[in-house]
Amino acid sequence: MERRIGFIGLGNMGYPMAENFLKKFGQVMVYNRSQQKCLDLQKEGASIVSNLKELMESNDIIGLSLPGPKQVEPVVEELLENGKEGQIIMDFSTISPALAVSLSNKAQEKGIHYYDMPVSGGPAGVRNAALSIMIGATKDEIEKNDLMPYLETIGKTFHFIGGRGNGQAIKIINNYMAFATQVINGEALAMADALGIDEDTFYNVVTTSSGNNMILKGKMNKVKEKDYQPGFALDLVVKDLELARDCCNNLQMPNFTLNTGLQMYRLAQRKGCGALDSSSVIQVIRDLNKKDE
Ligand code: NAD
Repeated sequence: MERRIGFIGLGNMGYPMAENFLKKFGQVMVYNRSQQKCLDLQKEGASIVSNLKELMESNDIIGLSLPGPKQVEPVVEELLENGKEGQIIMDFSTISPALAVSLSNKAQEKGIHYYDMPVSGGPAGVRNAALSIMIGATKDEIEKNDLMPYLETIGKTFHFIGGRGNGQAIKIINNYMAFATQVINGEALAMADALGIDEDTFYNVVTTSSGNNMILKGKMNKVKEKDYQPGFALDLVVKDLELARDCCNNLQMPNFTLNTGLQMYRLAQRKGCGALDSSSVIQVIRDLNKKDE
């Protein structure tokens, strides 16, 4: 029997995810905090509901892509209250490893499977079914529940990291690396400005030399065109770096670069960049470094 799929959170990532599920399986039922996104997807053929109870009662598999732990925890708890044995929750949001473990344990008490499956690759990665997905489960578990057809609808590279929470752990490490590097990229561009190296020369040389990095290339057009429509909102970077910092605090580990990077994004938030793309931090760093005449 065809399994029914529901989806929660129709943002930059969730909307194209739900859209892909709709195209591939001919059906998706959606719920979002702001109704307009649901209405948009309804025009493409999705069915919509106005509460989580109905979504959970009507579907076998639920996907979610919510901003962070503050939204995920109450939503999943409500799903579990209304769920039944055998249902599956695929959580594509980035949250803390500890919360993923705790939600999975609560789910298990009801015979429900909760998997942390954070992703990398942005909205374009979803649309091209090219995401990298970091799965807090073994390949065996995922295949036993026949989830690969769903994951292949949005992703291309699948990392099975074993136990629950491990998908989130590696995702947070990845984002720490990417977003701390983006601060270095901003400081490098500010140096180029000060030394009279124009932007095109900077990118031409560095993207073909040892200073190159994935986020430099990935955000190059946005930076050059000053197009700070998200993409990946800067507020979400602060959330991810705070998750990484909390992990280090729990481990009583120092984290110098992480903390410095986090302060730059906080500063950018205070300059009004929270809802803009993460790469707007580069503009803030360049502006801060402009010499007063
Ligand atoms: P977003 O802010 O664009 O979307 C979140 C959506 O969730 C919005 O539509 C919002 O209305 C909805 N929402 C919020 N609270 C809700 C609730 N309680 N119930 C129902 N709907 C609710 O965020 P996004 O960029 O799509 O990111 C989603 C997740 O994916 C985050 O955890 C983020 O860290 C992660 N992520 C994002 C990217 C990216 O490039 N944007 C890449 C990888 C991972």
